[in-house]
Amino acid sequence: MKKRRKPSRVRPDHLKVQEQGAIVKRGYGLIKVALVYPNTYKAGMSSLGFQTVYRLANQIPEVACERVFFPHTREKNPQIKSLETGLPLDQFDMILFSISFENDFLHLAQLLRATGIPLRSADRSSDRNHIHHPLVAAGGVACFLNPEPIAPFVDLFLLGEAECLLSGFFDHFRSTDTRKDFLDTVESKLPGAYVPAQHLPICYGDTPESTGAPPLKNRIQVQYLEDLTGISTTTAVMTSDTAFKDVFLIETLKGCPHGCRFCTAGFIYRPPRVYPLDTLKAALDEAAQKTDRAGIVSSAVLDHPDIGQICQYGKDKGLTLSFSSLRADKLDDHIISILSDAGVKTATIAPEAGSPRMRRVISKKLTREQILNAAKSLVDKGIMNLKLYFMIGLPFETREDVRAIVDLTLDIKSVFLEASRERKKIGTITLSINPFIPKPATPFH
Ligand code: SF4
Repeated sequence: MKKRRKPSRVRPDHLKVQEQGAIVKRGYGLIKVALVYPNTYKAGMSSLGFQTVYRLANQIPEVACERVFFPHTREKNPQIKSLETGLPLDQFDMILFSISFENDFLHLAQLLRATGIPLRSADRSSDRNHIHHPLVAAGGVACFLNPEPIAPFVDLFLLGEAECLLSGFFDHFRSTDTRKDFLDTVESKLPGAYVPAQHLPICYGDTPESTGAPPLKNRIQVQYLEDLTGISTTTAVMTSDTAFKDVFLIETLKGCPHGCRFCTAGFIYRPPRVYPLDTLKAALDEAAQKTDRAGIVSSAVLDHPDIGQICQYGKDKGLTLSFSSLRADKLDDHIISILSDAGVKTATIAPEAGSPRMRRVISKKLTREQILNAAKSLVDKGIMNLKLYFMIGLPFETREDVRAIVDLTLDIKSVFLEASRERKKIGTITLSINPFIPKPATPFH
């Protein structure tokens, strides 16, 4: 491959936060990748998916991957630069968007426009060695749920889990000379690659005959890891400016076995897969070297068959553990004792709906008794703060179902107060009620 021109540099941004683990690579011939999270630094650094891509890309010797975030500033024309070296976005070989939420699709377009890169893929240079329009690629769960809203603006999607895609993607990028060569061939070389320009747009109800489109030779398959042996998904860069301040995050399970009808986690990552205990112990070892707090994250934390041993090991390492949402029906006394011993102070319970009828409709198989027992047992064992998640606007919902959210919350409050009185200590209940948004790949879509 021909040599690329030397990128010019600007003065790096001054980070306002302390980081541990950022990677800066310098040298000629490296593929310069801007990994963009199209939202704030705080949101991006709270995303394990974003952090995983950063780590995996930088593990490839020929790749220098730097982070870029959406600038929330009042400046009219802010310069979009990388965090690591301050390189402007348009001077990278490649821009790789990591998109977790559909709301950030707008930021993708705004970032391209602010950088002066033609918005539409078709308007960009086809020769990456002369006019330097970076390749624009995108991945992340919002893309593999539905890439079409941003298809005209993206040269290439990587659909699936990054661990299956990144090394093949960079291998193929290195083996081709021009953007055109690369895009013309990548779908046939890399399962999960989707180049929108290679396909005619098809609307709902269209058939290949009615649009005149040639039949697809191959359907593009979203790529998933078969099992998680040898894979570790943890925080790559520790920072105080995330939703999980100075917490080392460890993913313990991908997907969820419960299949609630509104939830993508139960449908797109099938079957659910667990990380082996040894991998998780190694991750806890790493956490203990870096901090005193570890976050155990997954869609269904308590469904890991070794959750007891994981908590015990974390505790033995001197770590205070926190957990993503806990299923009330899995919270028996043994598990709650482990959580309490591990220093957990706040637990999240997500009944999602107030009435038993509505919980049946959404397939959230929790009874009122399980929810109240979980609240009581948590406070009894010293986990004094509860977060409750509900949704409104669900299919088949009635006004009674909405009122039932209030009733259930008051019942939880009553149990919570009684248990708190006995402990002569009181925490907080945080109630979160969100509107239902239908998600692709779920029965409610
Ligand atoms: S809502 Fe929770 S329990 Fe239900 S499928 Fe999603 S992650 Fe699993």
